[in-house]
This record gives sequence, C-alpha cells and structure tokens, in this order.
Amino acid sequence: MIQKATFVISNSNPGNCPKPDRAEIAFIGRSNVGKSSLINMLVNQKGLAKTSQKPGKTQLINHFMINDKWYLVDLPGYGFAKVNLKVKQGWESMITTYLTKRENLCGVFVLIDSRLPPQQIDLEFLLWCGTQEVPTALVFTKADKQSKSKTDQNIQKFLQKTREMFGENPDYFVTSAEASTGKVELTKFMEELVTE
Ligand code: GDP
Repeated sequence: MIQKATFVISNSNPGNCPKPDRAEIAFIGRSNVGKSSLINMLVNQKGLAKTSQKPGKTQLINHFMINDKWYLVDLPGYGFAKVNLKVKQGWESMITTYLTKRENLCGVFVLIDSRLPPQQIDLEFLLWCGTQEVPTALVFTKADKQSKSKTDQNIQKFLQKTREMFGENPDYFVTSAEASTGKVELTKFMEELVTE
C-alpha cells in the first residue's frame, strides 16, 4: 500500500538527482499517454504529478518519496510532435544519462496507450532500453476508454512486437487511472521491486 507520497525535487541535470541511497522506480511514456493520471491514481493524490505538461516547458526529472522508503520518478514524456530539435536532443541526453547511470534504479515502467495499435516510437524506445539492459515493464493505460476486446487486441499486437524483439513477453499491466484498474497489481509489483 502507498500511504505516503511527497515531492522531493525536480532536476534537468541527472547528476543532481537525490543521493541513490534507496530503491527507485521510474515512469516514462509518450506525452499524453496518461502518466500523470496513473501516478496520481497509484499514490492516491490527485495533484501530485502535474497533468498535461505542455511542450516547450522545461523537461524535468521529478522525484517523489514513497512511504519514507523508496523513490518514484516521473520522467518527461517523449514524442511531442511540435518540439524543436534542441528540446529533443536535450530530452535524449537527459534520459539516456538517467536511465543508464542511475545505480539505484530497479525498474522502469514504460506506459503504452491501450487505445492504439503498436506505435513505432514506443517500440524503438523499448528496443533501446533492451540494448542498454534497462529493466522495463509495460503498463497499458486508459483501458476504460474502449471495449475490453479492443484493449486486448491492441495489447496482443504489442506483445507480438516485443516477442519479435526480445523473444519473450515482458512483465505487463493493464490499467485505467479513471477506474483504478490495475492499482493492486501494480502496487504489489512495485513493492516487490523495491524490496528485492
Ligand atoms: P501525461 O501527459 O502522460 O501525463 O497524460 P495525462 O495524465 O495528463 O493524461 C492525458 C489525458 O488523458 C488527460 O485528459 C487525462 O484526463 C486522460 N486520461 C489519462 N488517463 C486516463 C484513463 O485511465 N482513462 C481515461 N478515460 N482518461 C485518461
């Protein structure tokens, strides 16, 4: 159970993140995938992660302390159509440094919009994580938005793609921030990750 969640710090420089003295789990995904809504649902606080951050705004790595025990990290989303090259390069440098150097990182949840068929940008990001041995799990979002059969169909297509890339299924979760779907399962998985 997540009983307590407090904001710690925002950074544009991964080198300034808090001392890596406790376990850490990060959330990332395409902009608008529902990342802020999912984090807020998981920590039982509506306004903790800011929803709908606009393109062009400073992209930051946000640390939250959970249950006085571990860090939850909200990473800036990828795939804004309108960002310029400089912003894109800034994101890439910040995120690749964070994901490859953060020594206390136990898991990265890559959020995937369950309304859509497999998106190239998500597959490319996952492939990069695979080559860098970044430990990932998939979190399909917005499952309440369409029929269960449509959600299942999109998820199966996505898993087919990841099987082609990695030869096995990743850990994955089906969620809805709206309906709190997946909350129990994801919370249990996070608690296992941080106590390993
Ligand atoms: P972020 O940019 O990834 O942080 O995405 P947000 O959390 O701001 O969500 C983007 C939009 O999708 C907002 O309008 C949310 O209200 C909506 N949204 C997010 N999660 C869900 C969900 O589980 N169900 C539904 N129906 N809408 C959602």
